[in-house]
Amino acid sequence: MLSESLSWKLLDELSSNLAANLGKFLISESPIIVYGHKNLLMPICFLAAVKSGRAYVPVDISVPLSRLEDIIRSVKPDIILAAEKLNISCECKIYDYDSIKALSTKQPEYITREKWLKPEEIFYIIFTSGSTGKPKGVKISRSCLDNFIKWAVTLCGNNSFRFLNQAPFSFDLSVMDLYLCLYLGGTEIAIDHEILSDMKSLIKLFTLSEASIWVSTPSFAEFCLSERKYFTSETLPKLQRFLFCGETLSNMTAKKLQNSFPEAKIYNTYGPTESTVAVTEILIDSAIQENYNPLPIGKAKKGTYIFIEDTDGKQLKDGEKGEIIIAGDTVSPGYWNDDEKTQKSFSQRIINGQIYRAYKTGDKGYFQDGNLYYCGRIDLQIKLHGFRIELEDIENNLAKLDEIIKAVVIPCYRNDGQIRSLSAFVKTREHVNNNFETEQNIRSKLRGFIPEYMIPKKFYFIDDFPMTDNGKINRMALQKELL
Ligand code: AMP
Repeated sequence: MLSESLSWKLLDELSSNLAANLGKFLISESPIIVYGHKNLLMPICFLAAVKSGRAYVPVDISVPLSRLEDIIRSVKPDIILAAEKLNISCECKIYDYDSIKALSTKQPEYITREKWLKPEEIFYIIFTSGSTGKPKGVKISRSCLDNFIKWAVTLCGNNSFRFLNQAPFSFDLSVMDLYLCLYLGGTEIAIDHEILSDMKSLIKLFTLSEASIWVSTPSFAEFCLSERKYFTSETLPKLQRFLFCGETLSNMTAKKLQNSFPEAKIYNTYGPTESTVAVTEILIDSAIQENYNPLPIGKAKKGTYIFIEDTDGKQLKDGEKGEIIIAGDTVSPGYWNDDEKTQKSFSQRIINGQIYRAYKTGDKGYFQDGNLYYCGRIDLQIKLHGFRIELEDIENNLAKLDEIIKAVVIPCYRNDGQIRSLSAFVKTREHVNNNFETEQNIRSKLRGFIPEYMIPKKFYFIDDFPMTDNGKINRMALQKELL
């Protein structure tokens, strides 16, 4: 369970060897795609890429091959480092597990630090769900990452640094545990998808882990809390901190956690991939738990400035709800190969005489008593079990199927306002006689295009969509059908 491990010395040596040995095969400056899961080769490949002076693009095995092909077409890499089995034909060279291992153990020519990525260069590109039906790549520079780490280490305390990693490396939440661990000289305990889906194994791993810092979405902690008898400080006696990000942390979840882990500190942090993991923080102590519902998402880190603006870009006062704009030293240079989208969402602002990049988050929020609060989205992006999804991404992929004319995906909410699942309303070319069979058929085809967590749970076949007065599909009316 905790059998495979990698020392600091080996990580450094193997990644340097790999960087040097790959050097001669890297014709252009294009980023390197690193495909895999929680394998030990993953951090070796990430570091090898940046030591060779190239950005890396992490892609998890949960990504369907057709989506990976979209990423390859967009990135045009010279090489792919596949730490897990990958059956795909493409123009670039694919290094499999054995060849990566061979290249990282072979004595190389020395790779000098001059080759390493410079602060203004792109360090990684993370592809997230895109409304067009194709994933969009968020570029993060080395200086964005450096500035994020400088702040985030202050959330880690000063005792033991054993990080529990839940998120796959293709999600930016994993940057929090992986790079804080690398920076602090700690230990990263990466939990793979098999263990994550089996509570018994998970509890066993917790017992062995001696973890001190927990990094996850609130959804994952809620999942663990369903086993309240075992998910306690007795199982994880060294756990000192919970660092949450990525979705709403409910007051109830915070209280339940505090009951099970009385000594642990719970931090709520907020931020999109576009501003490097997180940019606000707040310690959810007992006073906050007692007096605030919903919980605040806190105050901006040093180097970050947050504004609440209306649709005309006018700055709003305390208590007024508007779009959250993030400006500062961790805001991304933009989307990979997509100037149009970059210009739509990113800009520059002069703050205290200094120029910063700014990002229109699409999140709704407001300030109250110095703290920021999150209250949903202004568009069709959602979070389901911690995963960022554009509903149009699913709809556009459903529309690729021959039998479908149009599809609209609607979230189903729990009583506490969190999304429980997704339902698809579908208009088919031919009348559906057998709902179950058609549903199964659509589901299995859809798996070829989008990851499992994006597949709607329920399908409703309809003849026509309800429309609003101005001729748009009436999503509210469909939402009501689910009540
Ligand atoms: P991602 O790019 O996957 O990290 O998702 C970013 C989005 O997750 C943000 O734009 C928010 O909509 C949501 N989010 C992140 N952190 C929080 C939080 N602490 N509370 C509520 N929503 C959050």
